Amino acid sequence: MSIVTRFAPSPTGYLHLGHAASAMAGHDLARGAGGRFLLRLEDIDAGRCRPGFAEAILEDLAWLGLAWDGAVRVQSAHFDEYRAVLARLEAMGLLYRCFCTRAAIAAALGAPHGAEAAYPGTCRGLDPALADARAAQGEPYALRLRMDRAAAMAGRLRYHEAAEGWVEADPRPHGDVVLARKDVPASYHLCVCHDDAAQEVTHVTRGEDLRAATDVHVLLQALLGWPHPAYAHHPLIRDAAGRRLAKRDRAATLRDLRDAGATPAQIREMVSCRIGDLASL
Ligand code: GLU
Repeated sequence: MSIVTRFAPSPTGYLHLGHAASAMAGHDLARGAGGRFLLRLEDIDAGRCRPGFAEAILEDLAWLGLAWDGAVRVQSAHFDEYRAVLARLEAMGLLYRCFCTRAAIAAALGAPHGAEAAYPGTCRGLDPALADARAAQGEPYALRLRMDRAAAMAGRLRYHEAAEGWVEADPRPHGDVVLARKDVPASYHLCVCHDDAAQEVTHVTRGEDLRAATDVHVLLQALLGWPHPAYAHHPLIRDAAGRRLAKRDRAATLRDLRDAGATPAQIREMVSCRIGDLASL
């Protein structure tokens, strides 16, 4: 099998060390196996993405010496494909319209649950004629997956995680995840799975903050008949105080490190303990 990896950042800020770890792991894995390393910009969220950040990503990767193969895939140019996938899931009876506001969801969940809790299912049983009428009146809605039905349809799910082997996946605790947002006619889960299949990605290298989402991704792949890539989630890069680095931490961006005199070799050194065993999968 020829290995295909990808780096799939969202252009919502400058790249930091965590991105360097994901990109280097994917790059090294592909190059070590004579495979292909692809670049994808996950820019469906027009409100948060900026063209300047996209340009900066390309520049930072070039500075790191990470050359990608072929054209950059830009998700915002592919909404027609995402719509077609939603139509398939709709035809399978797996989607419903959700008109809830964030405030309504928070109120239904009660304060202690916070943003992490699964959707309480308020709109799941909505009469389709009523949902049609509300949509026709211009009320914005999201499309959610009927998780119970989808999980039952898919049956037993598992994926291959580097260093662990085959692991069981259970997407049900995620609840009825959003597959098309109110403000964007798609969602992260939908686009990432579609594009990994479209780009024939065989190995996904990314931070362990996305590990939990893998259960949902494996479900979508099974429902849609897409192959399951192998996964390698690397530990997050943390600051000296043990906090995870985020885009808001300017000092951790690759640009700031470069401006402070760091070399690409030093960046590689800084992240190598996180990706050391991934390149030899
Ligand atoms: N676009 C996602 C991010 O920037 C990463 C997607 C993935 O690697 O699956 O966090």
